[in-house]
Amino acid sequence: MFNLISSGTKSAVKKKDFKRSTAQSLHKHSHSTLGNGDLANAVKLPKDEQLNEWLAVHVVDFYNCASLIFGQLNGCTDLNCPKMTAGKLFDFLYRCDLDPKTGKKDKKQKPEDLSAPQYIKRSFDWMQELLDNEAMFPTNSEVPFPKNFQKVVKAIFKKLLRIYAHLVYDHFKQITALGLEAHVNSSLKHFLYFVIEFNLLKKADLEPLEDFTKNRLGVEYWNKIKK
Ligand code: ZN
Repeated sequence: MFNLISSGTKSAVKKKDFKRSTAQSLHKHSHSTLGNGDLANAVKLPKDEQLNEWLAVHVVDFYNCASLIFGQLNGCTDLNCPKMTAGKLFDFLYRCDLDPKTGKKDKKQKPEDLSAPQYIKRSFDWMQELLDNEAMFPTNSEVPFPKNFQKVVKAIFKKLLRIYAHLVYDHFKQITALGLEAHVNSSLKHFLYFVIEFNLLKKADLEPLEDFTKNRLGVEYWNKIKK
């Protein structure tokens, strides 16, 4: 299901593994539950598992998934996508919300108007720096996650959401032509179930995907999202 590399055209970023020892078994757990197709239940925190471990495994999974999908698209260029949009109603300015070295708010950053591919590339580079930072995502299971870990996770999910929204609204024809429609739909549904289950994004952040959420997950899921 997640094997997109083999058909490989360009690949935006290299696949990331989260090597924390507990992460391996959680990863297997998450994928075996997914095999049953029940995404709403697959996202739930397994009994006796730590929330931060579960969040970390999923951040890496969704990062890999979104970057693999983006890597397949040739059509996302400065010329075709001069702005980072999600359909006609939304466009986004780029801001590096947190310093990837410290995970703290970077107040000096000013919003930048970038093309979609530049926005996406910058977002992936920023996420990769965070994921590679041992202080943020410790690979040794003896080392605790930092205090601001959930803030960092939320900031990553916000960027991932915009990337998914751009891909779905602005590149769906190409996604269908590549035969990736089912994969992208199920990946995005999984992402949304996860975000809603753990209250990772506000309603305002999720607005670009309001229709998708209501149609594919159900209105009751949209209504669960906090303002
Ligand atoms: Zn694009």
